Amino acid sequence: MWHRNDLRTRDNLALEKAIGLSLAGDDDDDVRSRNIGELLPVFVFDPRFFNKADEEEEEEEEEVTEKKSGKGFNNRGAKGTSARIRIPKCSVKRAEFVLGTVKELKNKYKRLGLDMLIRVGYTEDVLGELNSSFIVAMEEICSDEKEIERKVIKNLEQTQRTKVILVKDGTLFHEDDVNEILYKGKLKERFPDQFTQFRLDIEQKNLLVRKIEVSNNNAFTNDEDVLKKTFAKLMKIDNNTIDFSFEPAIKDLPLSKDALRMHECIPKDSDDNNIRAVITFKAGEEEALKRLEKYLYGTRAIDTYFDTRNGMLNDLDSTKLAPYLAIGAISPRTIEREIRKYEQTVLKNKSTYWVIFELMWRDFYRFFAIKHKNKIFKLDGVGSNGKMPPWLNENDQIEIFQSFITGQTGFPLIDANMRELKATGWMSNRGRQNVASWLALDCRVDWRLGAQWFEFLLLDYDCASNYGNWVAAAGLTRGRVNKFNIQKQTNDYDPEMTYCKKWIPELSSSETANASTYPKPIKLEKFTFLQSQSQSQKPNDRAGGAGAFSGAGGRAKKNANDKNRKQGRDAKNQAFYNQRNDYDRDDHASNIFR
Ligand SMILES: Cc1cc2nc3c(=O)[nH]c(=O)nc-3n(C[C@H](O)[C@H](O)[C@H](O)COP(=O)(O)OP(=O)(O)OC[C@H]3O[C@@H](n4cnc5c(N)ncnc54)[C@H](O)[C@@H]3O)c2cc1C
Repeated sequence: MWHRNDLRTRDNLALEKAIGLSLAGDDDDDVRSRNIGELLPVFVFDPRFFNKADEEEEEEEEEVTEKKSGKGFNNRGAKGTSARIRIPKCSVKRAEFVLGTVKELKNKYKRLGLDMLIRVGYTEDVLGELNSSFIVAMEEICSDEKEIERKVIKNLEQTQRTKVILVKDGTLFHEDDVNEILYKGKLKERFPDQFTQFRLDIEQKNLLVRKIEVSNNNAFTNDEDVLKKTFAKLMKIDNNTIDFSFEPAIKDLPLSKDALRMHECIPKDSDDNNIRAVITFKAGEEEALKRLEKYLYGTRAIDTYFDTRNGMLNDLDSTKLAPYLAIGAISPRTIEREIRKYEQTVLKNKSTYWVIFELMWRDFYRFFAIKHKNKIFKLDGVGSNGKMPPWLNENDQIEIFQSFITGQTGFPLIDANMRELKATGWMSNRGRQNVASWLALDCRVDWRLGAQWFEFLLLDYDCASNYGNWVAAAGLTRGRVNKFNIQKQTNDYDPEMTYCKKWIPELSSSETANASTYPKPIKLEKFTFLQSQSQSQKPNDRAGGAGAFSGAGGRAKKNANDKNRKQGRDAKNQAFYNQRNDYDRDDHASNIFR
């Protein structure tokens, strides 16, 4: 069992398949001939997910082999400005989070009478040494991950008797159901480019989430008794043939030097970072379930999710399940199932629906990536409705990008979010929408630089969600373009600038007194998008989705009740921007494509 982004035992389709094969025993000739009966879980820290391969390439040029060069691993094959800056693929913080989850899984397997092999190396080499009959793994969808799959298959199936079985998983709705029931076997051609159509297709065809096939019916109770009985039927792997003792520390992981250097500069958790961080993510499958239980029964925060989801300041504003979903410490089906139970036993409302709605967004970007393949990494994306932003010249782009990643653009909402990301590996969805829109549509900087920076730092980095959201934020998915007015967004979502001041201490005592320590906003030149056709933007929508409850309630509407109070604050914020810059409001209307 080759674990990838499915670091759990509960509701894991690849693991179920592997267990099934291992237990097939004598009944099946093919299985018997392959000497089944043992199950060996494996996790490999592959240097290609840290960019180490590229560094080795530079240092030992003469030794570079085709395998090590891992073509396409650097910047996901991007060309142009985004290829000029080399950004590591994984931060120390995310590596720690993954490592913690892997170790927890290993301990769980041990308690269940098995063990998990952890290795650092090229996946195809590690798996090749095991001489297994079958390798079962979750199928991945993006290019780097697929490339590793191809190498594993090439290495193992051609040279040995190993059969590689890839299992589709990772989504709320099963890919086969989406393909067959919604798109008649033509997902790659017919999958819509807009989320709303996908949601309507689901609703019209009444597509169901597949039932979780486990005897343990409650995610919050321990699944160990059940698994222990199952695993007891397996043959024991001889500890003399496989050395399970290696448990890497963070220093053993092939982190890039740039990532290590940057980590040195980040204030450590003992510093005030910890106080500022909205949440400290604890690694592992059990922690994922604890978080879900806390969000549902523990605090009933889910009851008000619709109203709080845009918040940037509080732990319970949103589920914060994304880091666990990204590495598969929890399955989306488990979340959906527990919410459905909650709806039956506690409360069903717009908010409970909306969390499931967001999981549909996650599915949307996964299927979008399957459809568009590497187009989600291209500067032009999958195409635009209007014209593309006229990108700045490369040197200007790089200059702006440097201010962007250091949180020194002079736009508080942008800087606060970018500082939070760097210090903690987290940024709220509201923040992500704003910084992405700002970089691509206000600054005209190659959006892939931003996507790569997110890829580097986000604890919840997920290839399809990240690049999909970025390409959509840049207006390059042939749909509506949401260009956010940063000043208006600040007024709406951080009216007292509490969030901004939290991450920009230079602002907190007196805005004017400290003006010199905080940079003036970058001057943005006017530009026009020609031949635009897109529709207007609803302020409360995420990347363009008009959901079942759209238009009802929402932050903007709520704020209307506090109009007078808000006007005073708006004026104050307005003064802030005016004071620092000739920030041109007309040029930053929420949708310039009208
Ligand atoms: C530019 C940009 C980059 C992003 N990169 C990532 C990424 O690398 N990984 C990632 O998981 N999400 C990404 N998102 C989506 C979204 O911002 C995060 O999923 C969300 O903020 C995570 O917080 P949460 O778990 O509290 O989400 P909640 O608001 O509680 O939502 C529940 C779950 O729904 C899913 N979800 C919600 N919104 C989206 C969305 N727009 N797209 C896809 N899934 C969604 C997530 O899995 C999330 O955990 C990105 C969004 C933008 C605008």
